[in-house]
Amino acid sequence: MTDRKDELAGNLAKVEERITAACVAAGRGREEVTLIVVTKTYPAADVRALSDLGVRHVAENRDQDASPKAAECVDLPLTWHFVGQLQTNKVRSVVGYADLVQSVDRSKLVTALSKEAVRAEREVGCLIQVALDAGENERGERGGVAPGGIGKLADLVAGAPGLRLDGLMTVAPLTGEYAGRQQAAFERLMDLSTDLRRSHPAANMVSAGMSADLEQAVAAGATHVRVGTAVLGVRPRLG
Ligand SMILES: *Cc1c(COP(=O)(O)O)cnc(C)c1O
Repeated sequence: MTDRKDELAGNLAKVEERITAACVAAGRGREEVTLIVVTKTYPAADVRALSDLGVRHVAENRDQDASPKAAECVDLPLTWHFVGQLQTNKVRSVVGYADLVQSVDRSKLVTALSKEAVRAEREVGCLIQVALDAGENERGERGGVAPGGIGKLADLVAGAPGLRLDGLMTVAPLTGEYAGRQQAAFERLMDLSTDLRRSHPAANMVSAGMSADLEQAVAAGATHVRVGTAVLGVRPRLG
């Protein structure tokens, strides 16, 4: 193994241990939580090494970086998640490689995703990104719809050709009533997921938790954690 692959293997093992410990503490089975490795800012060679090491889900947040990387890794058995704020002019490109878009937060984006998914003859899984620090009828600083906007957006996705409503995603807020209270934030997301599943029972993905707060997410009931830094190292710049 190369030094880098060794390093990634060691980091992955540590993250795996953390997830397992969090599952045990929460009385959950390890198979209830899926690890998504966030490879943003890191090269395709790292994605390839991670795939060799058994990673099956990767996430990216900028189309400019993700698109060539996904093209270089098209032979790998990976599921690609798009987790960044998405402009409608990037939707055609993103639909070319993303199996899931976790950052759906406005109706215009749903319309664009549906149109391009149909054109590409692909089915794109959609998570509604929830901003727990946004006022009603507002969007979050880092994207996301306020809790009151979930229902309408979910119905729109569920009825849109080419799209599949898979669940909810959030990033722990830095401001507002949930600042510094990750577990409370993730528990709120779980409650919102319970509400959503009353009308959309199959939309059972709950994507929450990153390197710093994956334990709180698992404790709250997250089905997917998105881990970047703890696997790949500290990013050279904010990405
Ligand atoms: C970068 C990113 C992550 C991973 O964050 P780390 O702190 O590096 O684990 C998770 N979710 C989203 C939406 C991100 O942009």
